Amino acid sequence: MRRVIAVEKIVEQIINARKIAIAGHIRPDGDCIGSCTALYQYLKRNQNRFGFEKVDMYLEPFSNEFRILNATDEASHNCQVDEIYDLFISLDCASVDRLGNAIKYFNSARKTLNIDHHISNTNFADVNHVVADASSTSEVVFTLLEEEEITKEIASSLYVGIIHDTGVFKHSNTTEKTMNIAGKLISKGIDSSRLINDTFYAKTYIQNQVLGRCLMESDLILDGKIIVSSINRKTMELYQAATTDLEGIVDQLRVTKGVEVAIFMYETNENEFKISMRSNGKVNVSKIAIHFGGGGHVQAAGCTMNGLPTDILNNLTPHIEAQLNGNVKP
Ligand code: AMP
Ligand code: MN
Ligand code: MN
Repeated sequence: MRRVIAVEKIVEQIINARKIAIAGHIRPDGDCIGSCTALYQYLKRNQNRFGFEKVDMYLEPFSNEFRILNATDEASHNCQVDEIYDLFISLDCASVDRLGNAIKYFNSARKTLNIDHHISNTNFADVNHVVADASSTSEVVFTLLEEEEITKEIASSLYVGIIHDTGVFKHSNTTEKTMNIAGKLISKGIDSSRLINDTFYAKTYIQNQVLGRCLMESDLILDGKIIVSSINRKTMELYQAATTDLEGIVDQLRVTKGVEVAIFMYETNENEFKISMRSNGKVNVSKIAIHFGGGGHVQAAGCTMNGLPTDILNNLTPHIEAQLNGNVKP
């Protein structure tokens, strides 16, 4: 039932639009790139049917490994062109500020559509389709498309989105539905192992060096319930590491035995850090991220905080401790 309503509402927006923009969140991840390129390719394929004039896709610069996906070279990395869109489609964005520079197109668009799966989503658009129990936005997009319109290339994009947000089907957001959808995507002839290896597991020498360094420098606190590591800009420069080289470090921290919450922080500006948190189930890290102006999911969330890593940790720890002690509901 929900699918039919969502599809009708969304199709209505598309057929009423002449110019369409698609955008994902800042520092795009696999789900963001996967869902955007999938919907972009689908719209292009069906341009005559829907009768719109053009569709543009905005994505901030992303890691090269995603270039394996079709249409990634058609993404605009900056928002300098002045354009007013009839329809702006936001994908994988929990809140409007996560759109980054593309917010200008959101603000001037005649109609806005928000397709997402974050529990913290603020329903910021005219039409909101937020499915919090979906593994990924790519999974949500799959449910919106006619299966016969899903080409091998669209399937590859959606598959990459799903494997990235589920950590290759290992996170608790992986449901029976997720696996069924993955199966259907595989039936489209995608190269599943190549997509998994090349976009998820493959690491450059620099990425491995930085990962190793961050693991070596990690600390256990709160009787080993929290593991934390941070990297400042100077160290990143030393390794010539970009922020996109830091993906996956927090996930490696999380698998440390006995740990309930993993925290990884990297410096974005002087004394400003991007915080990534992962939980093994007992702690709702989205709640903590929202408290500090960010958002995410129960077991994976993030925010930006100011100060030195030790100060930031001092601010975060009581929230985690309160949930672990049962003083605050997760
Ligand atoms: P990350 O730690 O950046 O990999 O993010 C984990 C999850 O939280 C992802 O689903 C992100 O989209 C979300 N997230 C990260 N940072 C923020 C933020 N500042 N605001 C809202 N959601 C966020
Ligand atoms: Mn994302
Ligand atoms: Mn996502």
